[in-house]
Amino acid sequence: MSLEKTEAIVLRAVEWSETSLVVTLFTEDFGKVSAIAKGARRLKSPFESALDLLSLSSVVFIAKSGDSLDLLTEAKLQRRFRSSQIGLLPLYCGYYAAEFVQTMTENHQPIPGLLELLLKTIEDLDERKDPASVTLRFELHALQKLGLLPSFEVCVGCGESIDTTSPTVALSASGGGVACRRCSPAQRNVLRIETNTLQVLREVSECNPIQELKIVTSKSRGEVRFVMEHVIGHVTERRLRLIDYLEELKR
Ligand SMILES: [Zn+2]
Repeated sequence: MSLEKTEAIVLRAVEWSETSLVVTLFTEDFGKVSAIAKGARRLKSPFESALDLLSLSSVVFIAKSGDSLDLLTEAKLQRRFRSSQIGLLPLYCGYYAAEFVQTMTENHQPIPGLLELLLKTIEDLDERKDPASVTLRFELHALQKLGLLPSFEVCVGCGESIDTTSPTVALSASGGGVACRRCSPAQRNVLRIETNTLQVLREVSECNPIQELKIVTSKSRGEVRFVMEHVIGHVTERRLRLIDYLEELKR
């Protein structure tokens, strides 16, 4: 047992008892933290709005060993997620980012840079930046930090650069990325995607996610979503719940 102090973004909060919540937080130093917040459901909660979804809060918790839930002792709100005042799409994109991080990470396993990326994502949604572009940047850079980004440059079979002069390329999520003409027949679950779409995925995954936002044009949006749903579905082995709320990103 140890007392820890850190910054956290709230990913989820569920009822635990008449007066308490179990909250799932994401932190830079400890990765995901699942903790009981005693008294959080009381009218005069000691945590006030610091445990609202996607709030950035400074928290103090007692880390327990093994599978036991940690115990949250303090949470002070630093920044509130405000997209509900803007519209449903940015709100759902924020909730989707929370579900993504919740699903892809393990308790007490830090993922360097992921907290900063998640914070930048919700700040940009709050600032009315294009939800389709913000979401794609989040997905690609989060996959990169998790070590799960597919190869978009070289063939997963032979390691050679992919020919981008032909109109389409083969991509296999289970194979780990793009495959050249010779290697693609040996790959399973191959998608044929437009080379233009591959260029969009490359550009966004190579940008600095904290400093720039590459805008995805409406021409590429449909296929970009198709590829990301396929790639993320392969990693999570199930469809994330919030993906069904993001249809509008395809237009
Ligand atoms: Zn090859």
